[in-house]
Amino acid sequence: MPPITAFDTLDKEIIKVGGKPVVLEALWSGDTNGWYLLLYVNIIRSRFLIKREEQHLLGEVTLPEDSAYYTDGRPTVAMVAEELGKWAAQKYGLTFYFPSRDNADEDCPGWAERHLGVHCEDCNKLMLLRESSHLPREVCYSCYLNRKSNESLRNADPSDHGYNFCLSKNEEYIKEGYCTKFEDFTIAPFIQDKVKARLTSDIISTITLDQEDILVLKGQLETTLEGMLLAYEMPQIDERKRRFIGTYKMQYGGKEYVLMDRHNDAHTEIASYISNIKTAEKAIAEGYTYQFFFKQGITYRDDAFLRFINYVCKGETSLFAIHQKYARQLNTTDISTTLEKLEKIGCIVTKGEQVIITRLGYCIV
Ligand SMILES: [Zn+2]
Repeated sequence: MPPITAFDTLDKEIIKVGGKPVVLEALWSGDTNGWYLLLYVNIIRSRFLIKREEQHLLGEVTLPEDSAYYTDGRPTVAMVAEELGKWAAQKYGLTFYFPSRDNADEDCPGWAERHLGVHCEDCNKLMLLRESSHLPREVCYSCYLNRKSNESLRNADPSDHGYNFCLSKNEEYIKEGYCTKFEDFTIAPFIQDKVKARLTSDIISTITLDQEDILVLKGQLETTLEGMLLAYEMPQIDERKRRFIGTYKMQYGGKEYVLMDRHNDAHTEIASYISNIKTAEKAIAEGYTYQFFFKQGITYRDDAFLRFINYVCKGETSLFAIHQKYARQLNTTDISTTLEKLEKIGCIVTKGEQVIITRLGYCIV
């Protein structure tokens, strides 16, 4: 399936199909590796006096390397697809059909089955009625998640999961990794006893591993990795799977290892160990410590406020902007109480109208 990066690649594929293009469809498809935005063309092929409608897959809309996944809160690839759709509509006079422009969703009907679609109550998107009984039928999946998130915000549900791993030196903090569960860090089995022993009863416990701890950890990682490398096997990918599985190279101990980028747990583990050893080497050479942040008593509301200040407002905003952002979900007392709590636990500082995220606030979102 060819990657479609610009109108010339799309046009080549349309011309290859032949016939008269009448509809260009952009539909999402997802698997365990992520979402793909696929383009299909519907054409009318005339043979003698008989006209036949056909649908053909043209390829996947693909972004240039290093592109941001989201732009202004929408998948960047969806914006590229919209441009391609506009060009195709202009050149061929065809209809561009793209039912889910704001988020990835494979529950939307294709062009031929659009009469089976119903409109989402919240965003008006056309969707197929899903069979699942535990999800509401009147809204699409992303609006369902929005409703749930608003409910958690109003209820101030607990939100203590999620762990950032930072490298820290003086006032510098580098986010090195994030896991929903602490056990999911590759280094967790080697450090969890030390971490547990250092936990406090504070709402946020900052656990530090110093240079000595990191040296011990590096030794343990190296010993385990050496065992794994004894069983290392070069990738064998048969021709049919080559489209879906790629390889990459990593250096370790003066040797180069070719690793599969998916469907090979041993390779994934080797890559993770090599990268964790490199992180430890960097920390030792440049004088960083490791820091982890454990939360107990952080709510969904606290987390949402911090994310808004950190990611949307780039670390600094005004009280007015926060009140405005949450005016529909929360009352002013709830908003003020949340801000007071965040200031008290050291996640933000307020100076008059100004609200600034602290290093600690930055490190827990
Ligand atoms: Zn919706």
